[in-house]
Amino acid sequence: MMKRNVPVLDKNILHQILASSSDPILITSKDTEIIYVNPAWEKLTGYTLQEVFGKNPNILQSGKTPRIVYKSMWKALTNGRPFRSDSVVDKKKNGLEYQVRSFIYPVFKDGEVYLYVQRQHDITAEKRLEKLRRDFLSASAHELKTPITVLKLLTQSSINNAKNKSQRHLDIQELQLIDQELDRLTRLINDMLDSSRVETGRFYMVYEEIDMRGLIKETAKKIQVYAQNHTIATGNLVRAPVIADRGRLEQVLLNLLSNAVKYSPDGTTITISSSIKDTTVIVSVQDQGIGIPKNKQKIIFDRYYQVKTKSKVGFGLGLYICKEIIKRHKGKIWAASAPGHGSTFSFSLPLQTNT
Ligand code: ADP
Repeated sequence: MMKRNVPVLDKNILHQILASSSDPILITSKDTEIIYVNPAWEKLTGYTLQEVFGKNPNILQSGKTPRIVYKSMWKALTNGRPFRSDSVVDKKKNGLEYQVRSFIYPVFKDGEVYLYVQRQHDITAEKRLEKLRRDFLSASAHELKTPITVLKLLTQSSINNAKNKSQRHLDIQELQLIDQELDRLTRLINDMLDSSRVETGRFYMVYEEIDMRGLIKETAKKIQVYAQNHTIATGNLVRAPVIADRGRLEQVLLNLLSNAVKYSPDGTTITISSSIKDTTVIVSVQDQGIGIPKNKQKIIFDRYYQVKTKSKVGFGLGLYICKEIIKRHKGKIWAASAPGHGSTFSFSLPLQTNT
């Protein structure tokens, strides 16, 4: 029989395995003094092994972990059983809190607990998305209900009129209201469909050569019809040929413009302009509205994200879809704002060159 060379898991090899694990690992003595942390743990928490050696892992406590979690942890560990939880919220060296999926198990020697090994997995992002999804579900149900209630009221009154053989019919304003509410429902549903297309990798663009200047002018006119209490002005507009999906770019412009309308008071002006920078065209939509705090200016482009405002409207999907569209055009999108002093949303697109 052929003799095979079976690797020996000596101390050095085991140490390498621990050190190379991408999951953070912390090992304590049975008296819960830290005796080892691996590089992934150092990276997650910002502490070095030297800094935490001999200390109690409670230096990481944020005060946000429910007490019951520690209670059941000690109950399990003192009985020699492993413990697992998704509810531990710890604090990094820089003070930032993070949520971990924590798995702690005792290691025995001569029948007694010798040390504890704790494997962690940072689930902060996972939990945040979960919360956004939950909020999204309730917000979307609410958003869909509002237009449906209006439509229901109008159709019910029509049915009653018909039953009573009344001569009263829906007047032009009521019909316009139905039309607007149906448009709103269609937009909301389209956003949901687009978002799901992005998620399943089926968000396709159809490219052609278009001139941004023409598209901006047309879109500004379209939005003015709906935004009768605002002035939609065009600033400096440059001729800018781009290879793009016309419908999708119009969607981006409509979204930025309707957000500008939604988040700025009646009577104010919204200005759309464009300029050339190097080999790109930059399109900007500037409003005189409520503005966006600096620390929110990036995350508003995340799926479902909405800055908490008194009048919560929409799904928090519009800017996310804009970002996905611009990304597929090899461009960038960003916001600049000072609360109370309006916002400017801009995107850049590579110019079509004939070389
Ligand atoms: P929605 O408008 O449906 O909430 P969006 O993705 O379009 O979703 O926008 C995300 C968030 O960004 C909004 O909830 C709002 O708080 C903020 N926002 C977007 N545009 C503006 C703007 N022009 N001025 C102020 N805040 C804005």
